[in-house]
Amino acid sequence: MTISRAMLAAAACVLALAGCAPMSSTPAPAAVDRLYAIDCGENRTNDLSPWTTQADKGKPYVFSNNCYVLKHAKGWMLWDSGHPDRYASIPEGVPNQRRTSTAFLRKPLLQSLGEIGLRPADIAYFAMSHSHPDHTGNANLFAHATVFMQQAEHDAAFGPEPQRFGYNPASYDQLRTARMVILHGDHDVFGDGSVIIKSTPGHTPGHQSLFVRLPKSPPVLLSGDFVHFRANWEARRVPSINFDKELTARSMQQMDDFLKRTGARLWINHDFEQAQTVPKEPAYFE
Ligand SMILES: [Zn+2]
Repeated sequence: MTISRAMLAAAACVLALAGCAPMSSTPAPAAVDRLYAIDCGENRTNDLSPWTTQADKGKPYVFSNNCYVLKHAKGWMLWDSGHPDRYASIPEGVPNQRRTSTAFLRKPLLQSLGEIGLRPADIAYFAMSHSHPDHTGNANLFAHATVFMQQAEHDAAFGPEPQRFGYNPASYDQLRTARMVILHGDHDVFGDGSVIIKSTPGHTPGHQSLFVRLPKSPPVLLSGDFVHFRANWEARRVPSINFDKELTARSMQQMDDFLKRTGARLWINHDFEQAQTVPKEPAYFE
């Protein structure tokens, strides 16, 4: 009886302690300070079908094209570089090499960065989703930065036949001598989990995407071109123009799993409808 009462008292004490114990002390995951979306131009096509299905033969579409700049405690990072700034002075647009679309640029990237208070020299870290011309247009402005590239993309971009992959080496050739971090898969850029380059090959040999953790809202995954539009994402559709269909399908499945695991939002770079819902600089995300 006495023992039993003592045990009950002890149990009550433990319960009381548990009730008074501080909440779990797991620290919040590290995050960037800010993320800016930048309008880096658009592409207009009169035939969407090479990116979707034959059902879209002759259907016009406007591809949005964004760059992103983020502020981390260790420095500024730029993701993708859009169409070349000189396109802003060509209002009739510039046809692409295969003449399947025409590129337009309303505002130069340098002007957008200036509105954020940045000059190219302030960008310490630079990465591109891949080396197609709508992403490399201003790459040469950032050859002073630390540059992150997948081995397979580097091999294709700086190898003997960059044109075979649809690349325009003049648009990024100054990166050849940059401080280059060659990747073989995912990479934690700042070592704290806040910014992670995700390997998503398929559209090109070494395509990559960017996961960004924000301080006050859910993380985002910046797609690059591992998927082009919401409709392609929902149908798991691989464009016929892609470098490797199987690799693309695998990357899409891996990113689907990753999004579910992290609760991240997927921002699809070329999806015009979604891009209209993402405010551009000087607005920013926290
Ligand atoms: Zn693209």
